[in-house]
Order: sequence, then C-alpha cells, then structure tokens
Amino acid sequence: MPDSLTTAAATASTVITGSGIGQGIAIGRVLRASDPLPEPSDAPSARTADDERARLKAAIAAVTATLRERAAATSGIATDVLEAQAMMVEDEILADEVDGRIDAGATAERSVFEAFAAFRETLIGFGGYMAERATDLDDLSQRVVAALSGVPAPGLPASDEPFVLVAHDLAPAETALLDLDKVLALITIEGGPTSHTAILAREKAIVAVVAATGASDLVDSDEVIVDAAAGTITVSPSPDEADAARIRIAERAAALAAPAAPGALADGTLIPLLANLGSADAAAAAVEAGAEGVGLFRTEFLFLDARQAPTVEEQRAHYRTLLAAFAGKKVVVRVLDAGADKPLEFLNDAHEDNPALGVRGLRALQGSEDILREQLTALAAADAETDADLWVMAPMVATVDEAAYFSGLAREYGIKTAGVMVEIPSAALIADRILAVTDFASIGTNDLTQYTLAADRLLGSVAHLQDPWHPAVLRLIGEVGSAGASAGKPVGVCGEAAADPLLALVLVGLGVQTLSMSPAALADVRASLTRVTLETARRLADAALAAVDGASARAAVAALLESRSTRTPVSNPTPISTPLNGALS
Ligand code: PEP
Ligand code: MG
Repeated sequence: MPDSLTTAAATASTVITGSGIGQGIAIGRVLRASDPLPEPSDAPSARTADDERARLKAAIAAVTATLRERAAATSGIATDVLEAQAMMVEDEILADEVDGRIDAGATAERSVFEAFAAFRETLIGFGGYMAERATDLDDLSQRVVAALSGVPAPGLPASDEPFVLVAHDLAPAETALLDLDKVLALITIEGGPTSHTAILAREKAIVAVVAATGASDLVDSDEVIVDAAAGTITVSPSPDEADAARIRIAERAAALAAPAAPGALADGTLIPLLANLGSADAAAAAVEAGAEGVGLFRTEFLFLDARQAPTVEEQRAHYRTLLAAFAGKKVVVRVLDAGADKPLEFLNDAHEDNPALGVRGLRALQGSEDILREQLTALAAADAETDADLWVMAPMVATVDEAAYFSGLAREYGIKTAGVMVEIPSAALIADRILAVTDFASIGTNDLTQYTLAADRLLGSVAHLQDPWHPAVLRLIGEVGSAGASAGKPVGVCGEAAADPLLALVLVGLGVQTLSMSPAALADVRASLTRVTLETARRLADAALAAVDGASARAAVAALLESRSTRTPVSNPTPISTPLNGALS
C-alpha cells in the first residue's frame, strides 16, 4: 500500500496509510520508542587494537546473553528469531570485518557501526527475504555499540497506561517481548509486511501498521485509531470516529472470545478453516485457535537455514510431529517451494535477472528430482506412522504436464491425495484440465496476484498492485472454483487473501470450499462467515467481479453487506453462536 497523508474531508482528522498486519483495530494515545544512538565518532582509537578487541568480545558476549535470555523467555517463532539474531551477532564473517577495522586503528564502536552497515548494504543488494533482514542488523549494531559505550540499548518506552507504540522500525528482539497488556497497537515508520517484525506481530496478533511513512510526524499523546484491516492510522479522530472504532473493537473482542466452532456460513454450509504453518512447533497453538486441519504446511522453513537438504530421517521426524498433532484431520503439505524470495543454494545457484520468473518451485525440484523424491519418501513414511489425512501438493505449477508429473511421482510413493497450487494465471485459466490429472487445487493468492498484476510481491514501489481484490485475480479464482465444482474436486485458498474476513466471503462465493490462513486470523474469518448465506456470498462475488479495480471491488462488497445489515433484523438462524450471528444473512 502506498504511504500517504490525507485529510478526511468530512472531519478534521488526518489519515496516515501504511501496510496493515492482520485485522485488528485499536484506539489509544501515542508513545514513541526512543531514537537510535548517535553515529560513533570516526576519530582513531586511543587504545591498542588488543584492548579494543577485548572490549568488543565482552560487548558481544553481553548482547548474545541478553538475546538468548529473551529467546528462553519466549516460544515459537519469537524464540527462533531471537536465536537467529544471537547467531548473527557472532557471525564469523562479520567478526572479521570488525577486526579489520580495529586493526586499521578505529574504535570498536566505529568498527561495529561500519562493518554492520556494510553487511546491511550487502543484504539489501540481495533483495527480497534477505533485504528484510537488514533491520535485524541495524538493531544488533545498536545493541553492541550501546554495550561498548556503557549506555542502555535504545528501547521501548515505559508507561503505566496502555499506549500505541510508534517506532522507526521496531527490532524483532523488542517485538517478541512486547507487553500486550500495555501495547494496544504498533506503528512502524519503516519496515515491510514480510519483515521479521511484521511476522512476529502477525503471530502475536498485535494490531499493527508498518511502513507508515507519515507516522514520523506523530508525537507522544496524539490520539490515534489504528485500523490494521484498512492499513490506516486516523490521527485526532472525531468523537463519532472514536465511537465507531470502540464499537468495532468490542464486536471483535466478543467474536474472538466465542468458542472455536467449525467454519460455517449462516445457512450452515461448512467452510473448513485450516491453518498455514511453517513448523510443527506451531501446531498446538493452531489447534487451540480452532484450526480444523492444516491447509498449507510450508516445508521450505526446514530447508532455508540449511546448507544442504535435511536428511530423510530428519524430515520424517518433523512431518511425524506435525501429523500427530492433527490426528483424524486433513494436513496439506507443500513440497519445497524454493527460489525467488526463498533462495536455496543447493537447489539453484544460477544468477537470474528475474528470479520470480525463473527456476523456482516445482521447476527447481524437477531439476533436482532426488530432493523431491526424498521429501516424498519422508512424507509417506510419516503418514504411515500417524492417523492424519495427508494431502501433498506442488508449488508453482504452470502446465498440465507439470501437474501430471507431480501426481504421478506422488503416487509412486503411495501418497493418496496429490494436488497442485494454483499460483500462476495459466494454471487458473486451464484449471479444468489441471484438475483432470490431479486430486485438488489450492489457490496461492500471494503469487497469483503478483503474476496476474506483474508486480513483484516484495517490492514496495508496486505494493499497491499486490491486491487480491483486483477483479482480474478474482476472475481467475472463479475459474478454479467452477472447474472444481464441475470436476467434483476440492478447491481451497491458502494465500493471505483467505485471512481477509471480507474477501473470504467473496472467495466462498467464487466456489472456494476451504480457507487456510495464519492461525491468528481464524477467529475473525470464522465470525465473518456467519454473516452470510452461500447465496449472499455469490452475490457479493458478482459485485466484486463487476468492479473496475480492487478498491472498488472491496467498496462494492462492503456497501452491499452494509445495506443488507440495515435491511435485515438481527436473527439467529445458524448453528454457531457469535455476536455477529446471522445479522447479514
Ligand atoms: C501464495 O503464493 O499465495 C502462497 C500461499 O505461497 P507462498 O506465500 O509461500 O509463496
Ligand atoms: Mg506462493
């Protein structure tokens, strides 16, 4: 979403835009995180190089000890992120870079500052996932420099009252430990939707808007409404805006507190709600959030930090843990999706000018079939040892040949249900023929949107085009939904679009039968589904398809729902009890 600062015509409030993380909404007063430390002086050191090295060693030991303590105090992704940060501070290449500068006569502070900054530039040069790690380095540099200078690391404000935290770009180490009783919402001026901070915010269900450039003007005590679903920050809201926000906050809290019933529309049509997971460690939390199974298990996280593919035995153990957590339930595992923003040296080390259009996903696996065969071996073995209903799918399928290739190979290993992801427009357009050679389709709206709109999903300058509401994307999804209905084969969505409570209704109207998302989004989507019947969902889909662009599609759907809610009295015709029950059916 582009950053901008606009003044709403009807009120005196100012609206700042950024990228919203999740669906939450919060209202409160701003407190800003402290500003970064000043740049260390570049005057030559008055100490010997050995003295500087001894100081550096002590500072690094102190920083890693703090990070590891914090890692031990957290769980899940937060622990992994903090452990990864501790390893980054101790990185040997970085240490050599710092050492070289100390040898040349610089202070330890200056050497750390320069070496970390140089490494940061290198990461940014790689682009994508790597570039988003640059923020981690900035934070680590500040921590080591603070330890060397004997001052506290820049950190979070303390307050007895709950507040909206505004930070330049909050470090993952700080995000992981945010006190959610105090922090009502998080706004960062920089950062992107796939940065570690955003990933943690999503996992912790923090109301967050990142990359909100206009937020640099916010000062302590400003009152703001942070609306993550809309990606907006309303500054100095009018009493009406504040009241409307408070009503939405209360409605959402009630919906989140409702027991986790199976996903269903107001007419009782079941829409199973599944979880997107990247590690078996997250399985228990997903079950607790009411996930009815797993719609996307991203296996690449098992591979991403590795120099070589994990062994069959290592993989089998991980898959077994995952499947055991979902006994009797569906678990869709995606085979390795490497390439583009998830580079893996041992799979494809060729330089590509356009890696998103290069050898990624199934294409890369076809070139290293042994890795795919090992993965299928491990999955089949884990399946034989557990009682989950294992489905396996291939990423980035463009042709019927590729779909048939994957289904054939999966069958060789005894995989009972083999399908493909529909992430490339070609696969959506001939979904009928793709489904003829495979068992199911799962639509990856993140990539489908990037390829339909020709807009790199990681590039901030084209982020406004990465909009799954665009009618072109919706039309493609409709093709897959219709093909699934004709063939009698399951069609689900496992991209971020499924986590948007409003868009979820449109997806169902387009023929999507299951929705898979980050567990933190399940409650909002579950509540939203109860608002409409299948017939209404289809009407909403028609309205979205008829729009000229993503924004008007969303507006048309919102207006239609709104008009139905004012015409239809609140009733309770569904088997599910939530505060929004049946109101709009
Ligand atoms: C997608 O592209 O929508 C998807 C779910 O896959 P990933 O985000 O892992 O590329
Ligand atoms: Mg994808």
